[in-house]
Amino acid sequence: MSKVPARPQVVIIGAGQAGLAVAYYLRRFQLEPDVDFVVLDRGPVTGGAWQFRWDALRLGSAHKVNDLPGMDELGLSFENADRTLPAKDIVSGYYRRYEDHFDLKVHRPIVVSDVRNSRADLVVHHSEGATATQILVNATGTWGSPFVPYYPGASTFRGRHVHTNGYVSAEEFRGQNVVVVGGGTSAVGFLLELEHIAGSVSWASRRPIDYSTEHVRTIEGGIAAVRDADAAARAGKALPSVVSATGVPLTRKVAAGISRGVLKERAMFASIEPDGVRWRDGSFTPADALIWATGFRPELRHLAPLKLREKEGGVSVESGQVWTDPRVFLAGYGPFASTVGANRSGRIIARQIMAML
Ligand code: FAD
Repeated sequence: MSKVPARPQVVIIGAGQAGLAVAYYLRRFQLEPDVDFVVLDRGPVTGGAWQFRWDALRLGSAHKVNDLPGMDELGLSFENADRTLPAKDIVSGYYRRYEDHFDLKVHRPIVVSDVRNSRADLVVHHSEGATATQILVNATGTWGSPFVPYYPGASTFRGRHVHTNGYVSAEEFRGQNVVVVGGGTSAVGFLLELEHIAGSVSWASRRPIDYSTEHVRTIEGGIAAVRDADAAARAGKALPSVVSATGVPLTRKVAAGISRGVLKERAMFASIEPDGVRWRDGSFTPADALIWATGFRPELRHLAPLKLREKEGGVSVESGQVWTDPRVFLAGYGPFASTVGANRSGRIIARQIMAML
């Protein structure tokens, strides 16, 4: 891979669905990769966060990845992808072919540590030096920013705390007592995989599970969820999750898990003790591991020097553009935090960039 150019007009941080979509549209507007714009990604290979998803995750009714814009040119569609293979391999492979086909020249692995103001420029500091630019597109997703809620006693626990982003496969919990926390599709997937491998499995959720009975429920089926995320993004508030708001699809596998009793959630435990969890009714469940399928937050730490955060805790963003600093765009953020949303934010952001150049 060539050196990162020192002064492109646009820098895109992140080559997941959102960053690739922006790059695709900029190229369609005749901007040249590695000359006019540069894409930096810290992942070792293609696939964005999908390359790190757990082994058992498959594309299907619970996890639906929308095609990237222009992907039909390659004769590829996630709709026809092999559902017997790990989603991580499918997505990584398709993204690789996409990057090659459109010659997007993604630089990886490059870690961006911070972005700072330098007069009218933004300077992106990364593992290979510094790159000055006029416009920054931040498309860093959420995978690197896991969220674990606080429960009393958490630090006294003698077993393992494992977040979704550290979960590899059920095998590492063979014979162990496991408590899974969280009310979304990831928690359900873990429970089903652990059922016959772990010694025991319990499930704690803050709310009763919202099973979705629609035959096919797309990520954007929750229009209200997208609207709420948009309102929060505009107001600079902490964001609700678009993905979790769509509920857990009641597939045949899930329905069978409910009738077998493995998918039987309990209201959140009251506290964590060294050897397990104490429920609100005083009963105790021993645990060797707590799996936190409790979601993520946008990964924006490297933008801290730009002071974009509002006192409400979020960044004010409208149509992907930061209100307080219009040189900065957040792709795949707020209402666009799904693969279909990431595509849309790519188009909207690229158009705004062209109007600025
Ligand atoms: P990512 O895919 O996370 O890409 C961000 C990229 O930025 C990564 O490659 C990362 O390496 C890079 N990066 C981050 N920080 C830095 C840095 N400092 N320096 C350099 N590079 C950096 N959405 C759906 O539509 N369908 C689903 O089925 C679905 N399932 C999901 C399952 C889980 C468990 C999770 C957590 C999310 C899921 N989502 C799903 C939502 C998610 O929004 C999509 O997966 C989407 O692919 C995210 O794309 P993205 O480009 O915003 O982020």
